[in-house]
Amino acid sequence: EAKAAGRNTVRFYAAAQQQRAERLLRLSTALGMALTRGELYLQYQPQVDLRDGRIVGAEALLRWRHPEWGEVSPAEFIPVAEDTGRIVEIGDWVLREALAAARRWSDLPDAPYVAVNVSVLQVRQPGFAERLQALVQSLALPPQRVELEVTESVAAGHADVVRRTLQPLVQAGFPIAIDDFGTGYSSLAYLRRLGFRRLKIDRAFVQDIGRDADDEAIIRAIVQLARTLGLSTVAEGVETVQQAQFLAAVGCDVMQGWLFSAALAEADFAELCRHHDAPGWRQRWLAGQAG
Ligand code: C2E
Ligand code: MG
Ligand code: MG
Ligand code: MG
Repeated sequence: EAKAAGRNTVRFYAAAQQQRAERLLRLSTALGMALTRGELYLQYQPQVDLRDGRIVGAEALLRWRHPEWGEVSPAEFIPVAEDTGRIVEIGDWVLREALAAARRWSDLPDAPYVAVNVSVLQVRQPGFAERLQALVQSLALPPQRVELEVTESVAAGHADVVRRTLQPLVQAGFPIAIDDFGTGYSSLAYLRRLGFRRLKIDRAFVQDIGRDADDEAIIRAIVQLARTLGLSTVAEGVETVQQAQFLAAVGCDVMQGWLFSAALAEADFAELCRHHDAPGWRQRWLAGQAG
């Protein structure tokens, strides 16, 4: 009997694995057509200066609306796009879209920058830096208004990419932010030497503010060390007034998260910028009121 149960478990496991493989294949095939079929689009999540409440920029976040399945989560399809290499083509499209949006934001209050996530496969493509520079030139967009978000593992673990592509981009004036910082083991001093500008403190730390003294200590240490080294800090996934107050108190520069706004359609982001009352908003959450 025990043997039979074992066989059933194996069979069940194999079936689940096959289902998973089939789903991945379906996703990857559909993703291959998503770009030409116009199913991909971007949303923009505002980033706010914690000291004065101004909207300083927005992160471009990729979205996929499939005609039958509806919205597919980036957490699901981006890893598939990376595994299949489709992220290269999709990522180039994201850059063109996001930079065109930033160009349109030139007349908004404080001319917000756009932050774009770039994957290692994408920055590894020959000529990536040259194409990006040509793109900002053709749009007459200052590179300072295009922030590139690379993950800690790319910044610290791919010396070839850093030297051939990221360093020239730093030289050309593109700010580079280290995404999901704190989850890897890179040295801040090393990242600083490479000329990277900012750290995005991972949501995993932010969400435990007020609940986990270790996470609070880590955030405090990251912010202090970053400041000493002349790097600025962005906290991601800020959802509560308590988190914002803690971040402001420890000297974090910028925050991004649902407390201020979810990711928005471009038109809604522009509207928000036009009507944003920075001092009033900051006053409200400092006083302990949400939103
Ligand atoms: P990320 O770059 O760390 O982006 C932040 C993620 O946190 C986004 O998830 C965003 O919607 C979510 N988020 C923002 N505020 C809050 C909040 O207050 N609470 C919570 N719980 N979550 C919040 P999203 O849009 O699902 O994106 C997931 C990841 O997909 C991104 O993580 C990024 O690594 C990747 N990604 C998104 N767009 C692109 C892209 O165009 N290219 C590449 N290569 N990767 C992308
Ligand atoms: Mg990001
Ligand atoms: Mg992140
Ligand atoms: Mg924790």
